Amino acid sequence: MNTAADRPAQAEQSNAGVRTAKLLIDGKFVESTTQEWRDIVNPATQDVVGRVPFATKAEVDAAVASAAKAFQTWRLTPLGARMRVMLRFQDLVRQNMKRIAQTLTAEQGKTLPDAEGDIFRGLEVIEHACSIGTLQQGEFSENVAGGVDTYTLRQPIGVCAGITPFNFPAMIPLWMFPMAIVCGNTFVLKPSEQDPLSTMELVELALEAGVPAGVLNVVHGGKDVVDAICTHPDIKAISFVGSTHVGTHVYNLGSQHGKRVQAMMGAKNHAVVLPDANREQTLNALAGAGFGAAGQRCMATSVVVFVGASKDWLPELVERARGLSVNGGTEANTDVGPVVSRSAKERILGLIEAGVKEGATLSLDGRDVTVKGYEKGNFIGPTVFSGVNTDITIYKQEIFGPVICVLEAATLDDAIALVNRNPMGNGVGLFTQSGAAARKFQSEIDVGQVGINIPIPVPVPYFSFTGSRGSKLGDLGPYGKQVVQFYTQTKTVTSRWFDDATVNDGVNTTISLR
Ligand code: NAD
Repeated sequence: MNTAADRPAQAEQSNAGVRTAKLLIDGKFVESTTQEWRDIVNPATQDVVGRVPFATKAEVDAAVASAAKAFQTWRLTPLGARMRVMLRFQDLVRQNMKRIAQTLTAEQGKTLPDAEGDIFRGLEVIEHACSIGTLQQGEFSENVAGGVDTYTLRQPIGVCAGITPFNFPAMIPLWMFPMAIVCGNTFVLKPSEQDPLSTMELVELALEAGVPAGVLNVVHGGKDVVDAICTHPDIKAISFVGSTHVGTHVYNLGSQHGKRVQAMMGAKNHAVVLPDANREQTLNALAGAGFGAAGQRCMATSVVVFVGASKDWLPELVERARGLSVNGGTEANTDVGPVVSRSAKERILGLIEAGVKEGATLSLDGRDVTVKGYEKGNFIGPTVFSGVNTDITIYKQEIFGPVICVLEAATLDDAIALVNRNPMGNGVGLFTQSGAAARKFQSEIDVGQVGINIPIPVPVPYFSFTGSRGSKLGDLGPYGKQVVQFYTQTKTVTSRWFDDATVNDGVNTTISLR
């Protein structure tokens, strides 16, 4: 088991004086031998905060081999022992939350309180993993035929892998490896190459909590490493979270190679506002959910549909957005930090430009923002487009930045039809004081996660994340009960015991009728 004293070894400075993300193979944090490295850049300052290797094929193979070997003993480790590792892990994450949040903000850009929220949401999944004793129970039916009992075993499946996006470097890895491991599997994690340092700090704590050598491994990299995971014969299941384009590739390639794959992907989340909604609460919710984390949440509200007379609320939405504070994530009272990279900023500015060219009204323009003390930061201020229709690029593409598109609908039915025509189905919100409208909406809307007067309806960990349509491939979602199904194989045992050693039913060649 690693201890706190080992931690600096992983975080040590390389010769160049910059922290490097290590690989974790067979319980050891090792420097990659690759020639291919990428800088990890602070989005608020452009300072290089670390470097990440693109692991070689041999390193990926070594990580998988270590996981395959560890599976032989970890699968036999008693449930209670696995659970107690998670109990220690949740305690360590809680104790180290503020330290890890500092790293997360430095490499990802989100505000410090939001970074703590990112870790906290993952911590809740570790807490839930501590309930594995009941979560992994099988079923039993006595006397299904004369003297015959049937029961199920929920057995771990082997080496599982996880591929994670940049926007939640704590929460999303924690959606994956704690639940996979506590079910008795071993794991190979491929964090986002944009911000792997906070993920690695969580991984260090997992080892300190008692995760044995080989049970959790980490490789860094991009497409080559991901493809090596998708095609590796010894990996049984892959959890992916990221864009629709990459998720579809991972789902197809992994499935073709015989793996279970769950892919949680891109989004275009609508908030439908009825005129009877609580005005203040609704406008606050829209601004918070649209611009928090600079719009880089898969559940961010990126489209507002004002129904009927609620269209008159647009100026107030714009004012609320204008009032948000754009600043470095470490500054107190910051509402909107920088976007993750220069290329992300360029991409978002390009989409704003397209919105203008294609005829939408730029009701609030966040392009021209400079932040004192952070002049080089990748900042974009809150941006609101009104008069948007469903045919233009800013509506059709996921912007993944601090941009809200406002549309109008005459009736709730029209709004439901509009949302259901969008190919994405991650999250949606309805704002109303009418129970009847809410009931109709939740029944007819074709989106995985529905919020009623809740702008970002991410389920707590004892439910499962349930995106649908273009936002998800695979049947079972991350965490909750569904992921226990994903990370286990059900075996059905039908048994009969004789208390009389001389019993003889004779040969029966027909199917029994009772
Ligand atoms: P991304 O798809 O670019 O990257 C995700 C992972 O795939 C990373 O680990 C990356 O290294 C790898 N990758 C990137 N390009 C690849 C390629 N060509 N081939 C193979 N692997 C590749 O996503 P991102 O930009 O890191 O994250 C933002 C996206 O993630 C948004 O679309 C957002 O909606 C989505 N997201 C979805 C959820 C959800 O639960 N539905 C949650 C968070 C983020």
